Amino acid sequence: MRIAVASGKGGTGKTLIATSLALTAGNGAGRTTLLDADVEAPNAALFVQPSFTTTRVVEQMMPVVDEDACLHCGRCAEVCQYHAIAAVPERTLVFQELCHGCGSCALACPANAICEVPRAIGYLEAGEAKGMAFAHGMLNVSEAMATPVIRALKDYALEAGWEDGLVIIDCPPGTSCPAIEALQGADMALLVTEPTLFGLHDLRLAVQVARDVLGLPTAVVINKVTGDDAGVESYCRQEGLPVLMQLPMRREIAAAYATGCPLIRAFPEWHGVMRELLQGVQHLARVGQP
Ligand code: SF4
Ligand code: SF4
Repeated sequence: MRIAVASGKGGTGKTLIATSLALTAGNGAGRTTLLDADVEAPNAALFVQPSFTTTRVVEQMMPVVDEDACLHCGRCAEVCQYHAIAAVPERTLVFQELCHGCGSCALACPANAICEVPRAIGYLEAGEAKGMAFAHGMLNVSEAMATPVIRALKDYALEAGWEDGLVIIDCPPGTSCPAIEALQGADMALLVTEPTLFGLHDLRLAVQVARDVLGLPTAVVINKVTGDDAGVESYCRQEGLPVLMQLPMRREIAAAYATGCPLIRAFPEWHGVMRELLQGVQHLARVGQP
């Protein structure tokens, strides 16, 4: 079973919930895996302190143009949907940060002037953490393509046989390609939000992606609850989205987070609540959206 913990915006407490869920599940029977797919800022490792046994470089194929063979016909630029290659009269230029490695330009080139070479864009680290399997992806500094690193992370989990147990994925925030890649193939999406106007706005977008586009059973955790609500609870009621947990805005929680102390270690009294949350998400993943 794959549980994707996601959020429409950063800073909602998604990693706090993902790590607490994983540690709660890790105390039970069966294998638990935590995958940190927030590859631009992976920080779940700070909370679960893994020991890594495997490191793997993630590469993407990039086109290289042989200027001696190039006819400067512009066909490669015509087929590139990402504007990552430009043919000007004297040269054909590749913009590596924009390239998705799709290979279309090489296929379309009438002069066989384009070959593809691998280029490292990030890496994976995998091992064990507190009785769980753990892996995270890391996008290299200045690289823009997070999606291939997330895909490689999911492929690694599959190859390692981790998919047989419970897999909790800490997704990247937002609703763009990296978040979609992390959510795809999950059995349910747990969206973490906060009761503010920004939180509500981004929750709507996340629900559109997770439930309406990807068709995942979707539930919500509201974090930083103060008593003032900009409409998150009524939105969830209208949309039939179960709110499985509310976490209060408390200075001590923020302080524990800032020191890398998992929620259920800092506040053992939350153990029961986290267990109920885990049961709630597992139930929803099995039966689908109510
Ligand atoms: S398609 Fe091939 S020949 Fe034409 S501009 Fe691109 S690299 Fe040069
Ligand atoms: S590999 Fe694909 S994305 Fe990259 S330059 Fe060629 S056509 Fe564009």
